[in-house]
Amino acid sequence: MKYIDAGPSPAGWSRLSNVLKCPRYYALNREHDRTASDALVRGSLMHIALAHHYAAIGAEQHDTQVEYLSPEAAVERCVAEADCELHDKWKDNVIGVYHQYAMMYPTPSWRIQAVEEIVSTKVRDDVRDVSYDYTARIDLIVAHHGKHYFVDHKTSFMILRKTYNKYTLSGQFLGQQMMGREMFGGDFGGVILNLIGWDDKKPVSSFKRKVLPYAERSVALFPDTVIMGERMIADFSGRDAFHWPGAHRETACQTTYGPCSFFDTCKRGGHYE
Ligand code: SF4
Repeated sequence: MKYIDAGPSPAGWSRLSNVLKCPRYYALNREHDRTASDALVRGSLMHIALAHHYAAIGAEQHDTQVEYLSPEAAVERCVAEADCELHDKWKDNVIGVYHQYAMMYPTPSWRIQAVEEIVSTKVRDDVRDVSYDYTARIDLIVAHHGKHYFVDHKTSFMILRKTYNKYTLSGQFLGQQMMGREMFGGDFGGVILNLIGWDDKKPVSSFKRKVLPYAERSVALFPDTVIMGERMIADFSGRDAFHWPGAHRETACQTTYGPCSFFDTCKRGGHYE
């Protein structure tokens, strides 16, 4: 039975997002990954469940023989391989919310084209005479009413207008829209956010799908953002992590989700705590 990897892509947005947020955070995080959190783990497990859900539907639609692990078995396998308390904590809850999702959308109106597909492009930096790889793992590529769409599964505490508004200018989606246009031209319909509103204190979750607004000018200028991030990485490489410049902004060092995971390291001067 086939198991699908739903991990990050090799040269994707999260790396550039980190260095643009704070170069020192990027460098410290590369040495000492502290990204594991409840939100991240439950989101990753839900991706695993949905990847196997849609892969099985795609195989059926295309009348192919590939057999995938069931979504439940895939989540079990991911939890066993992670061997981490947070994964154990969220396993049953994820499977329960996945069952609600499958009941909410019993018959897909989409035609599945690819699941967890890595797409890539090159971004040219003429000043430095170099081309940078840029990649994205697309959760789902579908055809719908004559257009091709990228679908991104997002779990959040609840679904509000600001929940999808905040993704409109996110580099993750500007990059996806840039690559979608490159792949499908005028037949690219955009990025669909597949939102799962998941308050674990409530017995029933909420679900919503929405095509992200297309920020045309920002998509066109997105290569400049990639170039800026890549230049920062190239320019500071070779320094030890603490000597990469820090952002030192309230919104970076103390976010709405709590302090930066290296707050104490920065405060006291270069020691991991
Ligand atoms: S505490 Fe602030 S300066 Fe230090 S790594 Fe985090 S974001 Fe950067």
